[in-house]
Amino acid sequence: RRDVVLLTLGTGVGGGLIVGGKLVHGRSGMAGELGHVTVNPDGPRCDCGANGCLESYASASGLRGLVEQRLGLSPGAPLPAPIVDSEGNFSVRGLSAQARRGDRLALEAFATAGYYLGIAIAAFLDIFNPELIVIGGGVAGALPYMRKAMMTQVRERAFTAVASQAKIVRAALGPRGGVVGAAYAALHPVKRARRAR
Ligand SMILES: [Zn+2]
Repeated sequence: RRDVVLLTLGTGVGGGLIVGGKLVHGRSGMAGELGHVTVNPDGPRCDCGANGCLESYASASGLRGLVEQRLGLSPGAPLPAPIVDSEGNFSVRGLSAQARRGDRLALEAFATAGYYLGIAIAAFLDIFNPELIVIGGGVAGALPYMRKAMMTQVRERAFTAVASQAKIVRAALGPRGGVVGAAYAALHPVKRARRAR
């Protein structure tokens, strides 16, 4: 594949870009910080210091924030049992299980995350005209609960000709993607292209 946008939905949101068959690094290796595009200028504060980044919604920390907001809890307050793991930490898996049972709070949180994810993906589609958008990371398992809201925004915002050429798929390597990529990078070091003068 020569034109690919990767999003990793984990604790935060990471990204990677392949344009014309080349990995995009940017001037200092910072290109592809797709999690920090603004999807809501009036949104919650992101760890990067800006407001309403994609990461503030479509990540584990973003989902936690959405749940806290809906429950009227202050950030970091203890959460109800079904959505925490055995150590008391917020669990996207637990939230997914609640969504599967039809729990309204969980479904709304995922729909909001999907809404903002769709806004961002529509922009990436129009900017890069990719053939593939790959979504990985631990939160990608909850994609079924985000997909409807996400696809509505993609259809409403992206150019139809561009959106219809792109497949939006889950990363095939799942949680092993990072470790396989690290091994691949060690075996095939990336040569940074010299900047044209
Ligand atoms: Zn940010």
